[in-house]
Amino acid sequence: MSLIVQKFGGSSVANAERVMNVAKIVTDTYKAGNDVIVVVSAQGDTTDDLIAKAMEINQKPSKREMDMLLSSGEQISIALLAMAIEKLGCPVISLLGWQAGFNTNSTYGSARIKKINTERLKNEVNKKKIVVVAGFQGICKYDDVTTLGRGGSDSSAVAIAAALHADRCQIFTDVEGVYTADPRKVKNAEKLSEITYDEMLELATLGAQVLNNRSVEIAKKYNVELEVLSSLKRANGTIVKEVTKMETMYIRGVTKDSNVARISIIGVKDVPGIAFKIFSRLAASNINVDIILQSVGRDSTKDIAFTVSRDNAEKSVELLENYDVLGGAKIKCDTDVAKISVVGAGMESHPGTAATMFEALYGADINIQMISTSEIKISVLIDSKDADRAVSAVHAAFFPEVS
Ligand code: ADP
Ligand code: ASP
Ligand code: MG
Repeated sequence: MSLIVQKFGGSSVANAERVMNVAKIVTDTYKAGNDVIVVVSAQGDTTDDLIAKAMEINQKPSKREMDMLLSSGEQISIALLAMAIEKLGCPVISLLGWQAGFNTNSTYGSARIKKINTERLKNEVNKKKIVVVAGFQGICKYDDVTTLGRGGSDSSAVAIAAALHADRCQIFTDVEGVYTADPRKVKNAEKLSEITYDEMLELATLGAQVLNNRSVEIAKKYNVELEVLSSLKRANGTIVKEVTKMETMYIRGVTKDSNVARISIIGVKDVPGIAFKIFSRLAASNINVDIILQSVGRDSTKDIAFTVSRDNAEKSVELLENYDVLGGAKIKCDTDVAKISVVGAGMESHPGTAATMFEALYGADINIQMISTSEIKISVLIDSKDADRAVSAVHAAFFPEVS
């Protein structure tokens, strides 16, 4: 007997027909003699719709109340899926995050899972019930509902698989697996049969929405092998694990991240300690900085530009505008930017990767504003209006169409 954790994203449970489809997959797994725990997200665009509802009333709602609101989407899904499973004649129980034992810290909106009290989950599984758990949510030490951040249901599923030492953890979604680029945007994107945790973590962090990056961190930490596959078509998906079979491709994928903003500080004094003072001020407010560029000093001043996530842009500008250390420097914020990256553990041993990427962008007449590299990725910042074209051009350079 195996314990299988199956997670279904919003599009997989978007309407009654899709919910019945998921119930069929789950009950087939159960009837094959397995214990099954199912994690579901809110239906379709429910979470976005709930955010829009909040914005109609208050543009700056408290994070606690946002979590109270957003967690309701997953509550609808678990009840509906449990009803669908009942209809197919299998024993089932739905559980909210707190009922399933999800204890988180109290960072509302992007809470981290601290521990799962697995007693209830184990009891229900031992009673031979299919357990349907609301993803994306937990409870903190103040007995408040928390949410794990966008895409957080993936983390809920992987965390349950880790805590209960599940035999399999399947992430069902609306595409057949992890591809070399978003298959909805790039026609000849290739499905990867396997990918390592590290590469998947980079892809997820750099914008490949298919898995949430924290879920990959948890999977790596507890060595949970993941299978990403389609809920709509039965086909082999992508396995995410520690070591993969050597494949000829050394680039695993091309990603786009539109959740970025560039902050420029123009005309700051060219003296020691400036970078330290700027970035420690941002860090003190928990703001993560990504690409950093500093110009060559001239006339005893210099410019420093960096990127942050879009939701941190306003706060960053506020912190810097009120900072005496910067003297009369001008602060500019640009949100019409996107980050395009190529990812692959093999790029270290392949000279010319950056040149290939830059040539592809040049060929598409796309200007690069900032560049950053590591041994596993190269990222560029470009104008957001060029982003989709850039992904296609860069993808075509690394994955030429075979005719
Ligand atoms: P779910 O609702 O199942 O959680 P998401 O919308 O969060 O699904 O993630 C799946 C989507 O991720 C796909 O529909 C696809 O458009 C997008 N995506 C972006 N990059 C990739 C990639 N490299 N491989 C697969 N899908 C990707
Ligand atoms: N419903 C949440 C979201 O849209 C969580 C998830 O889908 O994983 O972000
Ligand atoms: Mg998702």
